[in-house]
Amino acid sequence: MTRPDDAGNQKIEVTLDEPVDTPEQGSNRPQGESEGAIPPGAVEVYIDKAVLESTWEHVLTNRRTELGGVLIGRRREADGTFTHITNWLDARHTTTTSGSLTFTHDAWADIAQRMSDMDPDDKIVGWYHSHPGHGVFMSGQDRFIHNNFFANDWQCALVIDPIKNDRGLFQLVNGQIVRTGYWCVPDKPVYVTQQDSKPVAVETPPQQDGLHEAASDFLEAGDHIASGIEKFVKYSAQRIRNSKGPLGRNIDKKA
Ligand SMILES: [Zn+2]
Repeated sequence: MTRPDDAGNQKIEVTLDEPVDTPEQGSNRPQGESEGAIPPGAVEVYIDKAVLESTWEHVLTNRRTELGGVLIGRRREADGTFTHITNWLDARHTTTTSGSLTFTHDAWADIAQRMSDMDPDDKIVGWYHSHPGHGVFMSGQDRFIHNNFFANDWQCALVIDPIKNDRGLFQLVNGQIVRTGYWCVPDKPVYVTQQDSKPVAVETPPQQDGLHEAASDFLEAGDHIASGIEKFVKYSAQRIRNSKGPLGRNIDKKA
């Protein structure tokens, strides 16, 4: 907002701070594949495929007792509020039986300790636990935990039954805990490039270097850059072999 200053003939800018508990603004929604119908009024949840796979693997480490932990991610804003789950932490020091899981004080203290090493913008956006062999639902104890520790509508509960091969997401929608659909976000493509002469993985396509440019001359429609590089390297090696220079003879001996 603006208002005139004391002289009355100029304007000064006044910037109002955003309240603390607002979601991140201006972030695009991830691209996801729908898994189940999302009821009206639910905060949409996007879960990285790697999280769905690795939480499943975690609960499979014990098929007799319930295992669980917290779901980590961001609450964001883009055409409405949504939750993006990108990580998880297993709960240690829990009290578990074949039919229940309880977060003890020590479990929470341990989670807080491990979260202090993570990005401060990463928040607990829900929890997950297993129901080995007894199906996907929210028990009375589960509802108690959800209502006491995860009572925001953008927080969710992931229940996994690795024995019956089922998994479901639960959220508070209009004050009721209901099973909802969600979006599965596939792994980002990873590109390999060179930094300080070492191969590193990056999320955006690297700038074309000399090798890529040379290789692109050998690319045919539909070819991957790697096959272009391969053709270029073969072509270059052949040219060196055919040459009568010392390098060509060295290669000939090794070939
Ligand atoms: Zn349960």
